[in-house]
Amino acid sequence: MIAKRHTGILGGRFDPIHLGHLAIATIAHRLLELDQILMMPSRLAPHRAAPALASADDRLAMVTLATDDHPHLQPCNLELKTSGPSYTAVTLGQLREQGYRPSELFFILGADAFLEIETWYDYPGILDSANFVVVSRPGYQASALINALPAIENRIELISIDTKLSHLKTKTHPVVFMIEAITPAISSTDIRTRALLGKPLDGLLPSSVVRYIERHHLYDTDGRQ
Ligand code: ATP
Ligand code: MG
Repeated sequence: MIAKRHTGILGGRFDPIHLGHLAIATIAHRLLELDQILMMPSRLAPHRAAPALASADDRLAMVTLATDDHPHLQPCNLELKTSGPSYTAVTLGQLREQGYRPSELFFILGADAFLEIETWYDYPGILDSANFVVVSRPGYQASALINALPAIENRIELISIDTKLSHLKTKTHPVVFMIEAITPAISSTDIRTRALLGKPLDGLLPSSVVRYIERHHLYDTDGRQ
């Protein structure tokens, strides 16, 4: 029995989680009127050769701190406790086994990540297993993807704060929602580099996460010995 039906999933390495991640979660929550969003660190991202620098436990701890004062964001360890690489298609299958219908699931991602969707495991079948919610990222406009991915053009709905959702949320077939929004120009790569160089991290992550990184020396030279 699932109490909260319309569920967003924001997956990522979260190495570390930052204000860009919180921004896309909040935008998707507001525009699509979602009941909750699962913030799900990946175990091993299939697209990446190098593992995360921070451990799974540290990445989940930072997600827990960052979501502490956001009641609609729930830390979720589903991918961390599953062995092997984290394939989104497999994760969505596990959620369906828990009773969710594809039309109740909303997989949230930045436009840079969705640009690679054709290389994902189980594409194009994966597009039938959940709604996708693609949010612009600085340098990657969501609306520009419509031309970049002609094969799925007929599934795409460009939405904004003014869009009436009633007809979209009753659709039984999953949709690719595209949201043009301004999110902060922040990346985990940049944060790791700044930490290594001893530069301040304020304004890029919640302060509780900055303190956690400093206390545990996650990305500085002390942590690499
Ligand atoms: P890295 O630099 O290590 O790749 P990242 O900042 O891209 O880290 P990820 O964990 O790779 O963060 O991203 C998880 C998801 O969040 C992806 O779908 C990504 O597109 C999205 N995302 C991350 N930062 C932003 C941002 N500033 N604006 C919009 N989307 C973002
Ligand atoms: Mg990334």
